[in-house]
Amino acid sequence: MSEPIDSNEQSSFYIPEEFLSLAEDPNSLTSQMAARFNVEPKTFINWRWQMKHQVTEGAQAAAVLSLKEQEAQGFEQLNHLFNAGITPYYMGLMVARLGDDECPIRLQALPRVEELKDSLGVADPLSEVAHSPVREVVQVYPDRVAFCVAQLCPVYCRYCYRKRRDEEAGLHFNRAIIDRGIEYIASNPAIRDVLITGGDSFVASDAAIEGLLQRIRAIPHVEIIRFGTRTPVTLPYRVTDRLAKILAKYHPVYVNTHFNCAEEITPEAAQAVANLVNNGIPVGNQAVMLKGVNDSPERMMALCRSLLKIRARPYYVFHAHSVQGTEHLRVSIRRGIEVMKSLRGNISGMGIPAFILDTPSGKIPVQHNYVLGHDGSDLILETIRGEIWREPDVF
Ligand SMILES: *Cc1c(COP(=O)(O)O)cnc(C)c1O
Ligand code: SF4
Repeated sequence: MSEPIDSNEQSSFYIPEEFLSLAEDPNSLTSQMAARFNVEPKTFINWRWQMKHQVTEGAQAAAVLSLKEQEAQGFEQLNHLFNAGITPYYMGLMVARLGDDECPIRLQALPRVEELKDSLGVADPLSEVAHSPVREVVQVYPDRVAFCVAQLCPVYCRYCYRKRRDEEAGLHFNRAIIDRGIEYIASNPAIRDVLITGGDSFVASDAAIEGLLQRIRAIPHVEIIRFGTRTPVTLPYRVTDRLAKILAKYHPVYVNTHFNCAEEITPEAAQAVANLVNNGIPVGNQAVMLKGVNDSPERMMALCRSLLKIRARPYYVFHAHSVQGTEHLRVSIRRGIEVMKSLRGNISGMGIPAFILDTPSGKIPVQHNYVLGHDGSDLILETIRGEIWREPDVF
């Protein structure tokens, strides 16, 4: 992937001080990976350096990891379909568990030949194109829109349902797209909530992000602004205290991020989330249920508990869309319901996200049905322990 188009910080070599203690700790992922990539840890924590050194080819990945046959072939055979791209930081998560044959990080980021075998998937499972009143503004609900301003990502997740955006260049923080999107939002007073997403909405200069925020905040009927970004997971050094302070000027601003497994929750990621939360920006997490990554009660529990510890509130877990090339990562909805049910009673209630099936007509919450029926005016329910509970109801 090429570097971000928009950048007036390109030349300035900004060192985010909050990450310096990690850079100086010889045992941190930051300093160990900096050594593998032959750079100073102070360079490694510069997010633009990370974007410029994205691993995009098999040979680059093989220089830090030994690739399995299906991964090496994946790089060879798939790059024309869906580009690989992985930050050196995120490569570090794979290096940290080299002996792990079932590494959940590799499954998310390395191309595999299995992606060629999918018979089910489609390119645009949510019919987003059909639900876009103007280019890159997706509207399913009257009061909120998803505004896809970004095309680039620090890591290209293999299961991404916006793969179709991969084919066409020039969509990243594109001036004309943003102008038209702002115009649409400004002329629709019903819109109270704008979700800035992509791609990854934090892959842009502080100035570009602030410029966008200013324009959206200037629209009187917009009440809240949300960012969707995976940078706390894939490029935590991007989430600087400096950026968080800019976002905080336009409150209420929320950030939803995207951790899928506890292995992604490192001290670096915790620092990124702390930078946001310490500036009054609530952080939520939207995960995707993926086979081998989080589709067991143990793994889902570990994820949700780790999220609470870094103050990222589990918000949604999505059933994986039928995107082309992701059959090997898909989990049945019924299995998903079972995994989510296992959390209830075993973790703080605020650590339990809603399980969601996203459809072109909106998000459908799916969960085990605890309401069994009624007997006269009594409601008959199942308790979380599986007992029957009779509750007198009022009319
Ligand atoms: C997910 C989504 C939203 C936001 O949904 P919430 O349930 O409010 O988080 C809004 N618009 C579109 C098109 C979406 O896909
Ligand atoms: S960060 Fe989000 S938009 Fe980017 S590849 Fe991953 S899932 Fe897709």
